[in-house]
Amino acid sequence: MDTILVVNAGSSSVKFQIFSVEGEGRLQRQIKGQVDGIGSRPRLRASGANGDSLADRAYPIESMPDVPAALATAGDWLRNELRINPMAVGHRVVHGGPDHDRPVLIDHGVVSRLERFIALAPLHQPHNLAPIRSLLTNFPALPQVACFDTAFHRTHDAVADHYAIPHQLYTEGVRRYGFHGLSYEYIAKALPQIAPDIAKGRVIVAHLGSGASMCALKQGRSAESTMGFTALDGLSMGTRPGQIDPGVVLYLISEKGMSAPNVQDFLYRDCGLKGLSGISNDMRELEGNADPRAKLAVDYFVYRIGLNAGMLAAALQGVDAFVFTAGIGENSARIRASIVNQLGWLGVVLDPAENSRHARLISRADSRIPVYVVPTDEELMIAQHTLSLLLNRPMPNPRHERVS
Ligand code: ADP
Repeated sequence: MDTILVVNAGSSSVKFQIFSVEGEGRLQRQIKGQVDGIGSRPRLRASGANGDSLADRAYPIESMPDVPAALATAGDWLRNELRINPMAVGHRVVHGGPDHDRPVLIDHGVVSRLERFIALAPLHQPHNLAPIRSLLTNFPALPQVACFDTAFHRTHDAVADHYAIPHQLYTEGVRRYGFHGLSYEYIAKALPQIAPDIAKGRVIVAHLGSGASMCALKQGRSAESTMGFTALDGLSMGTRPGQIDPGVVLYLISEKGMSAPNVQDFLYRDCGLKGLSGISNDMRELEGNADPRAKLAVDYFVYRIGLNAGMLAAALQGVDAFVFTAGIGENSARIRASIVNQLGWLGVVLDPAENSRHARLISRADSRIPVYVVPTDEELMIAQHTLSLLLNRPMPNPRHERVS
């Protein structure tokens, strides 16, 4: 069986999926897994296509000190126990920098170029690159593809790509990149089948997960994003504040004596739903919670989505459809209803029954703008990119023995 391994490596976990390559290049998800607790309590868990558990095992901390070791453990498990030798690996890489507007086949030169963007995404890029480097060393013949969260947004006009700061900083890479690009690309590719009449129009997509952003799609291409230089900007999120006056950061430094790493930790881990509620970063815990702080955190989340929808509508000079996706967008009928309520001024009218049953179209027939729920699939996007880059080059030998 020809398979593609998709890897999403973070600081303390590696998520992976196996797709089989079927006739005419169709991809079928076979396995979903993750190794988490790297450096603390390592654990490998995986399930098959129908959700049945294939593995759930703990490892001693010394056997899995870092992300490459975790991926090696998952790889050994796949090869030795399931007899799966992927023909290629597709990686999620957060930052492609200014020039990568599409996925790229990885070699040592590409890795060196991507290392330059560590400064632009210090919390994610090093963890994305570490397993790539280790696979390049141990399996030099195994094709690897990097798929970027930023690439889909490289179509932005100059006004959407800049901050009003001296040009030298722009040249260095201080730009409004935008993130969640693989999710938006998936939605843009799915829309022609779901709603062909609006797929070529002006669509606002709200990716609402533990990270959250919105994207303005014009004719299937990204025109504007609520995220910018980093994934801190825009909407409030599980633990990130979203848009914040830079003066607050100056206050934290000058008045509270916080160092740069303190401020970074604070902005990535202690704000958003968690900071505002003081209760939880998980929308499920806040939704039904009667505590006024939980209500404020949820109201703020919804309010900012409404404000940003106005901004994106202005960027698009109108809106033809609105799409919800990701954890909250796909699963919370209550949050969707509150957001649609905020969008009432645009002539959007919810169909509560369709919304409660998580239908694909959740607006009423007389709504001026249709509202859709489209489950995203970033991993499938990565597998598709990996396969298509692979098919443009001589087919590799599907077996890749470890170089010792
Ligand atoms: P990630 O950004 O980690 O990929 P997801 O897209 O999986 O996140 O979204 C995770 C978030 O979705 C969770 O933190 C949770 O708040 C939210 N979520 C998932 N299911 C529900 C639900 N039924 N109701 C409300 N929120 C939900």
